[in-house]
Amino acid sequence: MHSATVIVALALTFLIPACDFPRPPQAVTIANPPITRPVTPSDITTLEEAMAAVITVCREDLHLPVVDPIQVLLYKNTASFASFGQGWRTLPIDSDTFTAFTQRGEIHIDLQKTHGEKWATLIDLLAHEYGHAIQAGVSDRHMARWFNEGFASWVAARVLDSLGWQGYAIALERATLELSNNREQLTRLGDLDWHWEDLRTASRGNIKTYVLAFCCYCAPYRPRRSSRNDAIHHKRRF
Ligand SMILES: [Zn+2]
Repeated sequence: MHSATVIVALALTFLIPACDFPRPPQAVTIANPPITRPVTPSDITTLEEAMAAVITVCREDLHLPVVDPIQVLLYKNTASFASFGQGWRTLPIDSDTFTAFTQRGEIHIDLQKTHGEKWATLIDLLAHEYGHAIQAGVSDRHMARWFNEGFASWVAARVLDSLGWQGYAIALERATLELSNNREQLTRLGDLDWHWEDLRTASRGNIKTYVLAFCCYCAPYRPRRSSRNDAIHHKRRF
């Protein structure tokens, strides 16, 4: 065993409370789910039903090349998320700041950070991560971080729209308004790729990264308007 690994393992043994001790994730395989169109969030009670709704919209409405089967790995706590999900080298910094990630077509979720939320409430998170899985399935070429995150956020917005839970125009309008209200704090689009993590963990990091990426991804498809908040301008401005 590598000496650095031994040190980390010993540190975990003595520093992490017993209830937070790293444990392997629960793996849930979603395969060939039935077409599912829940009318209200209360119609969804399980992870399988939530993923079936996400996959239904992606396949039937958005005509995306869906990933099927797909595995969702559920981690009981952040220590498990860090050690089994990402590996020892990332402990403990990275795993503290995000709830889920997708790698090699697998969705990893830290249940400690979802605070017992119902799967219906987490459907935008599931849809976002499923968007990443679709990207990985289509191509392994490196894409700009803002493009990947913008696409995943677009998938999440479109899923909520297709289910009738939140209109796509409303999601885009809200994001555009957030950008407009924080314009002086935004960076250039090209800088997003280099400084994504720094920006994400800074004050108003979600707006500087995910909201900006979402608007930039959506801008070409948005009808032109004369509004002063027009997202069409984002590509030129940032
Ligand atoms: Zn993402």
